[in-house]
Amino acid sequence: MRYSQLLIPTLREDPAEAEVVSHRLMLRAGMIRKLAAGIYSTLPLGERVIQKTRKIIQEEMNRAGAQELTLPFVQPAELWKESGRWDVYGKELLRFIDRGNREFCLGPTHEEVITDLVKGVVTSYRQLPLILYQIHIKFRDEVRPRFGIMRAREFLMKDAYSFDADEKAAAQSYQKMHDAYSRIFTRLGLTFRAVEADTGPIGGSFSHEFMVLADTGEDLIVNCNVCGYAANTEKAAIRTPEIVPQDGKSWKEIQRVATPGMRTVEEVTGYLQVSPRDLIKTLIFTGSDGPFAALVRGDHEINEIKLRNALGCDHIELADEPVIEEQTRAPRGFAGPIGLSIPVIADFGLAGGSNFVTGGNEKDVHLLKVNPERDFKITRYADIRSAAQGDPCPRCDGSLSISRGIEVGHIFKLGTKYSTAMAATYLDQQGREQYLVMGCYGIGVGRTVAAAIEQSHDKDGIIFHPAIAPFAAVVAPVNVKDRQQMEAAEAIYAGLMQKGIDVLLDDRDERPGIKFKDADLIGIPLRITVGAKAAREGTVDIKSRKTGEVQLVNISDAVHTVEETLNKIG
Ligand SMILES: [Zn+2]
Repeated sequence: MRYSQLLIPTLREDPAEAEVVSHRLMLRAGMIRKLAAGIYSTLPLGERVIQKTRKIIQEEMNRAGAQELTLPFVQPAELWKESGRWDVYGKELLRFIDRGNREFCLGPTHEEVITDLVKGVVTSYRQLPLILYQIHIKFRDEVRPRFGIMRAREFLMKDAYSFDADEKAAAQSYQKMHDAYSRIFTRLGLTFRAVEADTGPIGGSFSHEFMVLADTGEDLIVNCNVCGYAANTEKAAIRTPEIVPQDGKSWKEIQRVATPGMRTVEEVTGYLQVSPRDLIKTLIFTGSDGPFAALVRGDHEINEIKLRNALGCDHIELADEPVIEEQTRAPRGFAGPIGLSIPVIADFGLAGGSNFVTGGNEKDVHLLKVNPERDFKITRYADIRSAAQGDPCPRCDGSLSISRGIEVGHIFKLGTKYSTAMAATYLDQQGREQYLVMGCYGIGVGRTVAAAIEQSHDKDGIIFHPAIAPFAAVVAPVNVKDRQQMEAAEAIYAGLMQKGIDVLLDDRDERPGIKFKDADLIGIPLRITVGAKAAREGTVDIKSRKTGEVQLVNISDAVHTVEETLNKIG
């Protein structure tokens, strides 16, 4: 393509609306423009990147045996009422009424539509397994759309759904998608982790989030550099310590101290001049089986999702003031474990500790030198705190570290949730009617592109991997009025196209500085500069966007060198 004929409206200045790097750079590189809050147009340069990303996703989905289709964007309310989600989905579901007074919504996801489709066409076990996918627009009416196409209301998504005869087959489909996702993100040139995500009380490893590592990411990822274990912070486990009964030799006498108005860990430990790790936080919760107490060390954070899963409860919440007062006989902030008549769940972090500070179950009172085995009973120990930097890995002897990431994909086992609600069945080998076992698998296509930019950029602009760069190389003649330079540039351009390399010829009558700045901003992996040396010495420069490395080559070798260098990077 010739630059002079393309619509690439680059911006010199940072746009005021941009909050994150990818948003700023995509606007500046002329890839996207905003139409309304969370609604963007994709311009030709952005479209090239999206199309390349899409193609890799399609190739790997097809390779995994998935079949592409297209499902409607506009969905009838009846399907959502059938699945039970019409009333619970909330305001993210954009609903409207057609001229015939029928209720519809814009699809935020397609479980209902696909389940309805499949139940009408799949009748026998012989038609299974089945994985169907589409790459299509979704709409979620987010309260706070932000970060450009990273969190837009209208967005492009690859969503896939698997249908299997039983749990075992469903696990195989899940693994197939897990493998396909790993190949997709590898081919896109991304550094990523597949992290175990929370699946609720059912447990098991049937939900993974695919996270692109980036310092600017919103999500925290817990991972072990020794064995590769990775999980999100909601889920990440910590190695269980051995619980050894203490001999009590170090135990001291309990002391009662006045702590007027001191409720938080900071206030209490600051006032008493002790370390937060010597304090036990006592939190009163209410669950389906009534109130209970959860204990964690002062320097640890309670993790309600892990706590809920450890208890096997559907729902737990921090108790309100009346319940706290009823159970502890003290206002909030002074709860302690001694004398409680409710179950006491202690985090493993307390094991082995002694002479703790706890609340006194009395207003403005804390206790010193409290020892679990002597002074109160722990109903059970459990892993109920959030993993932190340096915690022991649950799978090996290594320790955990925390990094930042951006979620670009999520795979999830649905089981028979939708097939039961919508009566999607098939006949098994014995002719018995069975519910289809489902899984769903998403990739945010635009979000993946934004995440790639968050992961790889510098002060001059985007640094695209050749796999998704809008162009793999740009040929930049320094002076388009110089006949010899233009002839050499045209020859290299033609040669690269002949090799099937996606190349841009910057034939604009602009100063070289502007051409170089634009090439850097857009993130084109290789730039071939055709300048005065082309005529004088018959050579051109090939510069790598990523490393800044420059190779000086003969004009006749330029095509070959570009091809070789791209192969090396890709
Ligand atoms: Zn490990």
